[in-house]
Amino acid sequence: MITLKGAEVSAKIKEQVQAELEGWRGPVPKLAIIRVGEKADDISYERGAIKKMESFGLQACSYVYPENISHEEFKKEFQKINQSLDVAGILLLCPLPRQVREKEIKEMIDPAKDLDGISPVNIAKVFAGDDSGFAPCTAEAVVEILKNNNVPIEGKRVAIVGRSMLVGKPLSMLMLKENATVTVCHTRTRNLEEVCQEAEILVAAAGRAKLLDQRFVAPGAVVVDVGIHVGSDGKLCGDVDFGQIQEKASMATPVPGGVGAVTTAVLAKHLLKAAKQ
Ligand code: NAP
Repeated sequence: MITLKGAEVSAKIKEQVQAELEGWRGPVPKLAIIRVGEKADDISYERGAIKKMESFGLQACSYVYPENISHEEFKKEFQKINQSLDVAGILLLCPLPRQVREKEIKEMIDPAKDLDGISPVNIAKVFAGDDSGFAPCTAEAVVEILKNNNVPIEGKRVAIVGRSMLVGKPLSMLMLKENATVTVCHTRTRNLEEVCQEAEILVAAAGRAKLLDQRFVAPGAVVVDVGIHVGSDGKLCGDVDFGQIQEKASMATPVPGGVGAVTTAVLAKHLLKAAKQ
């Protein structure tokens, strides 16, 4: 089985971004990362994103607010960043605390700065197959991994386990745009094992550690694992039992070292696209 390494795909995206940046005469595009509270996952994602933007020759800056900020106060602060001419793109770390009405904030975000595709305008564009907007970075990262490793998507049977607005649903639309035949699975799917076994490309985005083992994988299938978990041994693992599928899959992404690295590379690509627009 071939391991599809995220770092290699990220390096290719970096080359494209840097080549485009050479012809760029404006100020260095700046990403605003907006975080409310001190969740360890958010802080770790934020650090990774800042490091990635800087390594690509872009800028990133964090805006951090207390967990107990009121809806009105957050809205005011958010609007300042949203309207700032300095900021080319925004990454809002979600979920927001309960008192902040997330839907309202997502509807406020300037679609031209919405790098992770959370505004209704960008969601609609993804569903319409219009690539002038922004798809959620993780969903797009899955397609980038397949394309950069020359995995044909057209005409393939794709199963996606997970139907969230962040990964499963937008990914199903991106795969349809690539002319795949897509099945989206969720907790009410009957015979998940059988459905997955029919897939030539299997994407795991269920948020359940090691949910999928070799029984779910067709011989020769390509497996992309979006999940990230800290296992009971303190080590990171995915939604796929990577050790178990080696004899079945033809290619698979590892965790860590797979989709995560590509997600922030796509974020960088989106930042440059936003600045150019
Ligand atoms: P989510 O919002 O919790 O959605 C999980 C989806 O999986 C739901 O649609 C759920 O079905 C489905 N599901 C859960 N258990 C299942 C089961 N046993 N069988 C079939 N379907 C099942 O999660 P998410 O935000 O999409 O994230 C998914 C995973 O990706 C998480 O581990 C997250 O940490 C990771 N992630 C990684 C990146 C990255 O850059 N690598 C970025 C974002 C997220 P129902 O709809 O029926 O509940």
